[in-house]
Amino acid sequence: MIKITLPDGAVKEVEKGTTPFSVAQSISEGLARNVISAKFNDTTVETTTPLTTDGTLTLYTWNDDEGKKAFWHSTSHVVAQALEELYPGIKLTIGPAIENGFYYDVDFGEQNISEKDFPAIEKKALEIARGKHDYQMRSVSKQEALSYYKEQGNEYKVELIENLEDGTITFCDHSTFTDLCRGGHIPNTGIIKAIKLLSVAGAYWRGDEKNTQLTRVYGISFPKQKELTEYLHLLEEAKKRDHRKLGKELELFTFSQKVGQGLPLWLPNGAALRERLEQFLKKAQKKAGYEMVVTPHIGQKELYVTSGHYAKYGEDSFQPIRTPKEDEEFLLKPMNCPHHCEIYNSHPFSYKDLPKRYAEFGTVYRYEQSGELHGLTRVRGFTQDDAHIFCTTEQLNDEFKNVIDLTLYVLNSLGFDNFTAQVSVRDLENPDKYIGNTDDWEKAEQAIINAAEEKGLNYVIESGEAAFYGPKLDFMIKDALGRNWQLGTIQVDYNLPKRFDLTYKGSDNEMHRPVMIHRAPFGSMERFVALLLEHTGGNFPLWLIPTQAIVLPVSEKHEKYAEKVLNSLENHEIRALIDNRNETVGKKIREAEIKKIPFMIIVGEQEEESATISVRRHGGEDLGGLSVDAFSDLVTTEINSTLKSF
Ligand SMILES: [Zn+2]
Ligand SMILES: [Zn+2]
Repeated sequence: MIKITLPDGAVKEVEKGTTPFSVAQSISEGLARNVISAKFNDTTVETTTPLTTDGTLTLYTWNDDEGKKAFWHSTSHVVAQALEELYPGIKLTIGPAIENGFYYDVDFGEQNISEKDFPAIEKKALEIARGKHDYQMRSVSKQEALSYYKEQGNEYKVELIENLEDGTITFCDHSTFTDLCRGGHIPNTGIIKAIKLLSVAGAYWRGDEKNTQLTRVYGISFPKQKELTEYLHLLEEAKKRDHRKLGKELELFTFSQKVGQGLPLWLPNGAALRERLEQFLKKAQKKAGYEMVVTPHIGQKELYVTSGHYAKYGEDSFQPIRTPKEDEEFLLKPMNCPHHCEIYNSHPFSYKDLPKRYAEFGTVYRYEQSGELHGLTRVRGFTQDDAHIFCTTEQLNDEFKNVIDLTLYVLNSLGFDNFTAQVSVRDLENPDKYIGNTDDWEKAEQAIINAAEEKGLNYVIESGEAAFYGPKLDFMIKDALGRNWQLGTIQVDYNLPKRFDLTYKGSDNEMHRPVMIHRAPFGSMERFVALLLEHTGGNFPLWLIPTQAIVLPVSEKHEKYAEKVLNSLENHEIRALIDNRNETVGKKIREAEIKKIPFMIIVGEQEEESATISVRRHGGEDLGGLSVDAFSDLVTTEINSTLKSF
């Protein structure tokens, strides 16, 4: 008999050789029906793997990430089989599960495939799946494995096997198909009810551009057709909300190959939006006791040698700039912290002066490989809403709570109400990984946990996720489509104060070291605007949107009155434009809809006579005839409902 421990701590004594499936059966028939993958002592196993030692067993269904992973990886075998049957002679390489679905990298040789071939491949794969073939793992000797693939002339699998140790090699069979595989499959192909290929792309063997270019076939699969339909709908929505597309339509930002890739250019609308976001945060920060500072875009190489960034990231950064005469070396600023440390160092402080809170909308530059660049979310130059707080260990808890308050204020004002917090603490089993003394770490971790607790945050603690220099708190946001984004972090740092020899005089008249907090509620302006675009689909909160209203005269005759209305709106501090082109009102409304302008103000004969305006809301709701005053009240009420003062 062996002892199997379940995640809830329950221990089951079962016969040696019992499978995860049987364990599930002994718990409930329902679980047994749904279990598709399992983990035994940190190793992914099949539901049919005989368990031969004591250990911990976790059972997974489709609702678990691990279950989906097994499901999608298993589907990649089926799709590979379909490809082999439809395109004889192709060479298969690897087919892992990814975050949403799976891919298979294939050498198609002289043949090629495109999206128009997808339906036939999907059909074939589904036919195979319907055969309810079991996935069966078997061990093979290295010799056997090599000769199997040498016979097929598949040099890729041969290369993979050559790097494996004899005795660890396994094949997975289903139907007539065999693949080199470590395992992690669902019980049989019959569970796969819907398969969709999503795209094809080029991919180099082993990610090295010196190697052969393969074809990567991306796909996804589901246990129900309905779930596939829902997923495709979500994909469609995501496409519509793609910040790169919306950024263009709303004329917020652009990129120029001449200026350089990964360097966003903010257009007037985008610049106005940024400005408003900055003012919003600056106002709240001022109330929270922050002081604004300004630092240059470059710093001496020595600065980053001191901070330790050069040793860690120097090779993978923009390379130093040299002065022509003195041969000094400067780096483009990859972060603002070292500059802020030197600001702190420019003045002697006593414990009574702390905390010092320095804030800066600091533009930084980080080298990203061109293939990694993506819209505003991965760029080479961006502006952080950065701040560094220098305080005593005793002040940490309060400072942390203040930063949480500020972050929550930012999130609420911008319509994010679905978020979780992650507290990242040390891995207690590897104390050598971290700098600073244990006492400080304990205090800091406790300060963060207490602050999260006192603020009623929905948080999880992740052990081992702390930075080497201190614990941190990350905010994760779920956007309107249910996608997760990581927003700015709040980090405690013992490292930089030491490296820059920061001190303050304590009440004991001795010199002490302050603790540093790095924080950025937006993260960066670029990333935040991208996230906001995708979350709101471009329908920004009314207080933030560049143009709140557009005046649309029905005909030329009413232009004068329209100008008067515009003027009056501006006097009420409503950001408005006028569209007096010689076009129909219908067309003007359609264009204003695309531009996501919240209010369309239509003025014609009737309005002019009664000195009113007709208001139409974005999306079509007709608010009827109003005076400008009444409209202005409506706008103010709406703004005040989302934008509270800090
Ligand atoms: Zn496999
Ligand atoms: Zn920092």
